[in-house]
Amino acid sequence: MTAGEWQTVVGLEVHVHLKTRTKMFCRCELEYGAAENTHTCPVCLAHPGALPVPNERAIEMTILLGLALDCEIAERAVFARKNYFYPDLPKGYQISQYEAPLCGPGRFALPTAEGEREIGIVRAHLEEDAAKTVHAGGATGRSVGADYSLVDFNRGGTPLLEIVSAPDLRSADEAVSFLRLLRQTIVDLGVSDADMEKGTLRADVNVSVRRAGEEGFRPRWEIKNMNSFRFIGRAIEAAFRQQVEAHEAGEEVVQSTYDYDADTDQLTVHRSKEEADDYRYFPEPDLVPVEPPATLVERLRGEVPERPGDRIRRLAGDLGFASAAELVMNGNERKAEALAAEGIDLKTAAAVAMNRDDFLLENAAALARIVQANVTREALDEAFAEAAEGPIDPEKYLAQTALGDEAELAPIIDSVIAAHPEQVETYRGGKEGVLGFLVGQVMRETQGKADPKVVNRLLAERLRPE
Ligand SMILES: [Zn+2]
Repeated sequence: MTAGEWQTVVGLEVHVHLKTRTKMFCRCELEYGAAENTHTCPVCLAHPGALPVPNERAIEMTILLGLALDCEIAERAVFARKNYFYPDLPKGYQISQYEAPLCGPGRFALPTAEGEREIGIVRAHLEEDAAKTVHAGGATGRSVGADYSLVDFNRGGTPLLEIVSAPDLRSADEAVSFLRLLRQTIVDLGVSDADMEKGTLRADVNVSVRRAGEEGFRPRWEIKNMNSFRFIGRAIEAAFRQQVEAHEAGEEVVQSTYDYDADTDQLTVHRSKEEADDYRYFPEPDLVPVEPPATLVERLRGEVPERPGDRIRRLAGDLGFASAAELVMNGNERKAEALAAEGIDLKTAAAVAMNRDDFLLENAAALARIVQANVTREALDEAFAEAAEGPIDPEKYLAQTALGDEAELAPIIDSVIAAHPEQVETYRGGKEGVLGFLVGQVMRETQGKADPKVVNRLLAERLRPE
């Protein structure tokens, strides 16, 4: 990046529903999709005199995540009341953590085009989610056109983990990669399903811009409650465009909350800073501070599985950093490693596993045999698709071997070369990328049955300048 060029600055606040059996401060069970208002009690409905009791497992899960993010674990964390008035909050305040969160500063290893970069974690804290409001004219379809909302208190009091990143992300792609790998970390830890469609993972995205080399930050826009990786990427790009345009036109960019409209690909002001809430935080008098014993923290440290950054570093030895990062980023490394464990070299396994459905691990040995038998691309696709559904019979595929016999392939390759003199010329002129096109022609002539490795070699041999 050259000096003076505009640069994207992104920080994220990620909210995750913890996968505990019961709510954060009462014993109501958590059940996604249950009939409305069937999981409530005096505590989560804020009846007078009801007292909260913290969920021990939720605290452990938060520490686990904190350890996976290399956070400092507080010796004394304090729950606080965050006061605001809204129908989804029967107490009139949310129990959160403010000045003393459970997890302090940490870091996250992010693979980027330039190699691994460290993204700062500001904090991770535990709170309770609000209830869910449903507009009566909307999703339920109960009374279309109604001008009132209904509240479902089942979600009220769900343990909610909030992870705040430093504004260290420098593009939409980096922000999405960070979210994908953070999500993977959370799922691996078993603390949440982190399913954006179900709303168990949501993100607030803070975006600003500045010129390369500039110190400090310009005012940022907050885009709240995003629940799709694709829209998060697009919203960041839209915010970048709109802010750069405003700065260059000499207009003031005001710090506010924005909504992203996917149809117009534009951000519009939701609420400006002057109306910002004053939450009047104060320590929750009904709860004692959380003081996790060192023995507990050490036990949990032992439960943290290998993290995506560690996995990339480990696989980079065999695959190189870029390929290892791509494999892990797309969630294909387990498949590749399962195949490698059956005797296929990791590079081949990685290439074969890339972008295929997750197969059942019991099929790994059968799949390895099929891959090694060098079957047609079609047979391989079919075998992987079937292997995701149930146990497979390798014999069915082993006979469908790819055409790798040089004597059989030679006349086909010669006819393709004769039919494409222009591409041959281009290749001999130094543009080797055109080889892929010629390989494609041979694959078409053989209905996909040719072994691409052999075709590649034979073509290259024949096209070598005399
Ligand atoms: Zn309850």
